[in-house]
Amino acid sequence: MSVTVAIRKTIKWGGAFAVVLLVAVWVASGWWWVSVGRGRPWLVWVTQGRLVLDRYKAIGPSDSFTPLSFRGGSREPESGPYLLWSFVWGETATSFGITRSCIPLWFPTLLVAIPTALAWRADRRAWRWERIGLCPACGYDRRGLAPAAVCPECGAAASAAVVAEVVAKR
Ligand SMILES: [Zn+2]
Repeated sequence: MSVTVAIRKTIKWGGAFAVVLLVAVWVASGWWWVSVGRGRPWLVWVTQGRLVLDRYKAIGPSDSFTPLSFRGGSREPESGPYLLWSFVWGETATSFGITRSCIPLWFPTLLVAIPTALAWRADRRAWRWERIGLCPACGYDRRGLAPAAVCPECGAAASAAVVAEVVAKR
């Protein structure tokens, strides 16, 4: 397998796994929340379809060193599942001296989904080309070439599967 093909397969399957995971977290965050942080001076949440960073203004020196902790729970039933879609950049909630920034989870999902979709499409195209006797890398017509010959157009090695298939037919 060439390096390009290996990278494409990695993006294809790794990306698909990451998209499924992100969508699962995104949907689940409508019902549950998790947080990690020190309370003060910062706390990171996943809740309501967003990754939230809260920075707290330290009220006194003792506030600055609360231990790092992981927490989680379900949202109040009456507030129900609810996903928020917007970005927030450094919005200040006046009452507690919290500065809040939010990244909606559709954004990282999209960032991963785009290259994943392109890798799936490229992989499908390579498979289709290979089946009709074209070079899977560049689409050069390989018919008439020796099965194990490298592609004269781009130098890609013949696919092991195709070589095996041709050898088996002899
Ligand atoms: Zn080629």
